[in-house]
Amino acid sequence: MINSSLRRRALFTAGGAAIGSIAAGAVRTAPASAALPGAAGPAASRGASSGASTGASPMTKPTTTPTTAPAPAPTTAHTAVKALLDGNRRFVSGRARHPHQTVDRLHEVAAGQHPFAVLLGCADSRVSPELLFDQGIGDLFDDRVAGNIVDDLLLGSMEYAVEEFRPPILLVLGHERCGAISATLNAITTGTTAPGHIQSIVDTLTPIVEPFVTDPDGVEKAVRANVLAQVAALKSRSDIIREHTTVVGARYDLDTGLVTIL
Ligand SMILES: [Zn+2]
Repeated sequence: MINSSLRRRALFTAGGAAIGSIAAGAVRTAPASAALPGAAGPAASRGASSGASTGASPMTKPTTTPTTAPAPAPTTAHTAVKALLDGNRRFVSGRARHPHQTVDRLHEVAAGQHPFAVLLGCADSRVSPELLFDQGIGDLFDDRVAGNIVDDLLLGSMEYAVEEFRPPILLVLGHERCGAISATLNAITTGTTAPGHIQSIVDTLTPIVEPFVTDPDGVEKAVRANVLAQVAALKSRSDIIREHTTVVGARYDLDTGLVTIL
């Protein structure tokens, strides 16, 4: 833990306060309470949320945002999922607002981050969370690896985020036609070994995807099964995650851009 703590210092330069508190082993709940002023906050600040599905509600805020205080973020699992799905609908419909991507926002979060969601996603270049959820700097704590697999390092990274920022949700995002999944199915079918360290991904995914090897729709079914397996693994392996956030599984459609909660 000490070693990890030292490594985290290098990895997560989130600002003096954040680093200080994790080094001291403190559990900080301040971000949630700090975000509370404005019971209407989540809807107002992520404004797009409220009207995005109908497209009826224009942005109340134009491109510039005040620098005085961080924008309130969703504080419940429900509002966090809604913020992500509303952002995804904006993205898909071509009405992305690209929130929190100004220089003002950059300065706002430079002193400390308060992401409202941790995301475990695939490293695939087509599945960039801030783009497909129409979010910005400081909104999402991304952990990405081919096949969106939970391993010890990623688990530590996600636990750090949950312990430090208390985000209301941790979203596991799989996606259509995932290359890691299809490569694993192919390796099982052909009895071949993947080159280099790619085999470690195949080894990890094999027990999850093996039941679908002969299924004509095997890749799709395995993608979904893998998301659910990783959700279960996060909850069973981590007290921190199980006790302090809500783990949600989802699938991204490469063809339409839509995210569906599983
Ligand atoms: Zn993938």
